[in-house]
Amino acid sequence: MQVLESPVQTTLEEGIPLSEVTFCVVDLETTGGSPVDSRITEVGAVKYRGGERIGVFQTLVNPGLAIPPYITHLTGIDDLMVRGEPPIEAVIPTFAEFVRGCVFVAHNARFDFSFVNAALVRLDYDPVPPPPVCTARLARRVVWPDVPNVRLQTLAQYFRTAVRPCHRALADAEAAAEVLVGLLELGGRLGIATLGDLHGTVRARGRPHFGRIRLADGLPNAAGVYLFRGRDGRVLYVGKSKDLRTRVKSYFYGDGRKKIEELLAETHSVEGVPCGSELEALVLETRLIRTHEPKYNRRGRTWRRYAYLKIDPSEAFPRIKVVREPKGDHASFLGPFPTSHHVRLAKEALEEAFPIRRCTRAMGPKTRFAPCALADLGRCATPCDGRIDPERYGELVRDLLSSLTSPGGLLEALEERMDRLAQAERFEEAAEARDRLRVLAEALVRRRADRWLSQSGALRLRDAQGRTLRLLGASLVRGDGAGPIPLPCPRDRADELAVVRAWLTRNRVRLEHADHPPAEPVDGGGRLHALLTRLREADRRQ
Ligand code: SF4
Repeated sequence: MQVLESPVQTTLEEGIPLSEVTFCVVDLETTGGSPVDSRITEVGAVKYRGGERIGVFQTLVNPGLAIPPYITHLTGIDDLMVRGEPPIEAVIPTFAEFVRGCVFVAHNARFDFSFVNAALVRLDYDPVPPPPVCTARLARRVVWPDVPNVRLQTLAQYFRTAVRPCHRALADAEAAAEVLVGLLELGGRLGIATLGDLHGTVRARGRPHFGRIRLADGLPNAAGVYLFRGRDGRVLYVGKSKDLRTRVKSYFYGDGRKKIEELLAETHSVEGVPCGSELEALVLETRLIRTHEPKYNRRGRTWRRYAYLKIDPSEAFPRIKVVREPKGDHASFLGPFPTSHHVRLAKEALEEAFPIRRCTRAMGPKTRFAPCALADLGRCATPCDGRIDPERYGELVRDLLSSLTSPGGLLEALEERMDRLAQAERFEEAAEARDRLRVLAEALVRRRADRWLSQSGALRLRDAQGRTLRLLGASLVRGDGAGPIPLPCPRDRADELAVVRAWLTRNRVRLEHADHPPAEPVDGGGRLHALLTRLREADRRQ
């Protein structure tokens, strides 16, 4: 057994520069292809760090079983050669120590890695931690298609290695190590600089755009927002990340999604905007998506589908309308809702609780026409035939509007109806009532939070990391000219308000200043939260 070595590093963080990583390049000869049934006949390993060879390990191993003739024909190792050699039990302790703390490398690494770990585990040693680095896979990313294939023989010729592979363990390990050094040198020009980069490259599934991974070179390892731009400078995609450089590189490792492949094919440059906090990154991402409506951000155009419920008490006999824009000085709005399905459910919930008219005909104080079936069912106050005058109808509308602010009674009534349906085993109707109730309750929770944020004026908050955040009218102040978010929130700023609301709900922050101290109506808050918890719990059980 031959062992020559220098000490190795013991930490293998993904950010470690490759020049500081100790690689152990391993090659095995075996009696066959199965790590369960076959045994090792020879071990060759070479350690490299910073392009320098710092250790070597080589030994023949007595496998304890006959070596098949075709293996002998391939490697030249026969039963006679290994008869006096140590068994794997005697080799493993030294080899385990040799490979400890190194990144395991092999050509077609899965084979050698599985044999080594099977032997280590069989003899009660800790396995070598994954992932191994495969020089064949790495070559596919770095030198393909400059080479006809990624066989070790071919790569040794390409890199003109001093040692040529010959199906003996040490020679093959030496050749693979020289190939690794060559690949890392070329990979450096592609931006493979750290151990994390190397692992990502080896894991990469496709490679059509891998050569352009260097577009990420100028990005910092910092939190922020990134923009993929096309040849004409158009923004194609906006995203955010805690680590801009690592995240952008990950796209080039082979995401596998067709859309991402198309995005990378169109990308000409990638820009990064570092942000001081997660909230800033979230808000900036949303603002950039709204401004540029990038082709590959699905969210970019969804705000155009948002809708509101509108009730205008200045009309003689108001009804609940679905509108796309929150316009109307005297009107009250609920929303925006993300889809027409959601807005319809909320409308039905309110109409279930209040006998507001549902017909769409224009009605003045004296308009009269024949009632519809809702009159007979008792589901409409029936102003169309004069059964209710504008004053009494106005009281009904005022009740509805006040229940949007103090929804305790409204929610109680709807919840009781849902429970009655369930008890009567009208499960389908009960499920529909539950869906309507949930959509309405969620909208009311959002409404309360948005009013609180918007009406507090200037807010100064401190996050868990001690950073100061400033909001003005629910809008994060970051010097980009974005003004306060008015209420009702316009559709094109609804995503931004949702991001701020959700972030404040998820994170612990300290309120240091508010122009107008926060206050919310007492009635309904507890019931709203209890109700939503109950509905979500029921969803989880289904
Ligand atoms: S009962 Fe009359 S007011 Fe009510 S929805 Fe029907 S038509 Fe309209």
